[in-house]
This record gives sequence, structure tokens and C-alpha cells, in this order.
Amino acid sequence: MIVCHSHKDLTQHLVAYRHQNKKIGFVPTMGALHLGHISLIEACKSQNNITVCSIFVNPLQFNDKKDFEKYPITIEEDKAMLKASGCNILFLPSVDEMYPYGLKASTKEYDLGFLDTLWEGAYRPGHFNGVCAVVELLLNMVQPNNLYLGQKDYQQCMVITRLLQLMKKENEITIHICSTLREKNGLAMSSRNRRLSLDSQEKASIIYKNFYFMKQQLLQNVLVNDVLKTAMENLYQAGFDKIDYVSICHPTTLEPIPFFNKQQYNQVVVLVAAFLHGVRLIDNELLTF
Ligand code: AMP
Repeated sequence: MIVCHSHKDLTQHLVAYRHQNKKIGFVPTMGALHLGHISLIEACKSQNNITVCSIFVNPLQFNDKKDFEKYPITIEEDKAMLKASGCNILFLPSVDEMYPYGLKASTKEYDLGFLDTLWEGAYRPGHFNGVCAVVELLLNMVQPNNLYLGQKDYQQCMVITRLLQLMKKENEITIHICSTLREKNGLAMSSRNRRLSLDSQEKASIIYKNFYFMKQQLLQNVLVNDVLKTAMENLYQAGFDKIDYVSICHPTTLEPIPFFNKQQYNQVVVLVAAFLHGVRLIDNELLTF
């Protein structure tokens, strides 16, 4: 596996592959890799000649400075996992390499429309603009044919789909949304889980169990508001300190569904963001009826 720290170095390697008409797939990450990330690398490897993974903890997407400072960094383990998975190129830039003119000068506004006003957009002001800033830079550097994203970050997948339209790259780069890898107890794998004890990780699995509890309730015609109320109570009872949102939404517009009936909706997405012992966890599940 080749490790590139600079844009120049990365370009030199990629230009050679592009001349050979090799298909390039790209998996952007913030590191602290787990098997969920590796499932994206595997999907990428199966559909491309060259797999590029980036590890960059992007300061622009953290609206909470403490969250940024606490973000786990495990570069040596990450490199070993990527090498074992067959990744071809790891791009590991510094903050200065990505933002040579400083963070302020690199902050720009993306027209994300309603997507920036709901859920993660509402609870983490500026987050998606920061995501777009780094993803735009990375896509211009890597120029992949295929881009691999995790459904774990459902709203982010939609934001990046919108970003490709804004960049007029929707015909050049194909987005592949890969399903969420979970622990045996249902907890979505996440770099943030490392900040939870094993006991807390067990408690956190209520998020997943709640999805199917909610599905049952909807099937029994319980009112959406009551379903949400009980789902939140379940989280608090399991030990969650704070809930940003639990919502039942339209799977593409992400607008909340006020009244559910099977005839009108054959699929909904449940979105959750909640804090357990100060660690903010997000998850989602598409429920099909
Ligand atoms: P992150 O390093 O958290 O920014 O994640 C990098 C990519 O991995 C994103 O596209 C995530 O959605 C994806 N990802 C994170 N956790 C999982 C998971 N448990 N299963 C599948 N993909 C994931």
C-alpha cells in the first residue's frame, strides 16, 4: 500500500493509473477504522482497479471543539487494517495540506437547501458545510470513478449526492451507499464507540432494538407521536443522557411523517441522534412495510 501525504504525491500516482485506464474507487474516512469502514474498502475493491482511502479528521465539520479534540486517532492500527484489506493508496494529508490558506479562508457556503435545516443540519450548525468543503477538495484531488459512503451517515449520503450536483460531477462520479455494519447486539459500528465501556456499548444497542419496536408499533397503528415518545423513553431508561432527535421520516425528503399508514408509505427511515455518557451516537434504519 502506498501512503501519500501530499496532493502532489497522490496526483503523481493517480495520473499513472488514469493513463492505464484503471478504474479508481474512493473511500473517504476520518480514521479510527473498524470493520464498517473495511466493508466500504471491500465494496470498492470489488468494483475498481485501484482503491484509494483517505484518513483526515476534518476540523471544519466539528461544530463542537471538544468533540474534535476527543476524536480517536489510531493511525498505525488503521494502516495495518487497510494494508490487510488490500487498499492500494492511503491518502493521509495534514490540516495544512488540505487547507493551506487556513480554516477560515476555506469555509464556504454550499446551497444544501432543506437538507441543511433538518436533523444533523439543525443540531450541528455548519457541520454539512464543513463536510462539503473537505469532500469537494478530496474529490478534486482523487478524481474517482466511484465513491463509497456508509448508510450509517444517511443524511450525509444525501448531502454528498447534492454536492456532486453542485460540482456538476454527478455524471462522472457514481455514489455507492453501503449498508451499516453492526455489532452482534445491533449497535452500529462507529469510531465513537471506543469512548464507551463494554457495558455502555450494550446499553447503546437499545437504539437498534428501538427501530424494530417502532416498526411493530407503527404496524399496530399507534400514533407517530406516541411511537416517538415511547422510543425516547426507552432510550432514557437505558441510560441515555440527552436525545437530539428520534424521527420517522420520508426516506428521500427526510421530512417527518406526521401520520403513518401502510398504504401511503411502504418505506420510512428512522433517524436517531442521542448522547450516552457524553458520547453522541447517530444511527438510522430503513423500515419497509
Ligand atoms: P467516518 O470515518 O466516521 O467519517 O466514516 C467514513 C465512512 O465510513 C462514512 O461513509 C461512513 O458512513 C462509513 N461508516 C461509518 N460507520 C460505518 C458502519 N458501521 N458501517 C458501514 N459504513 C460505516
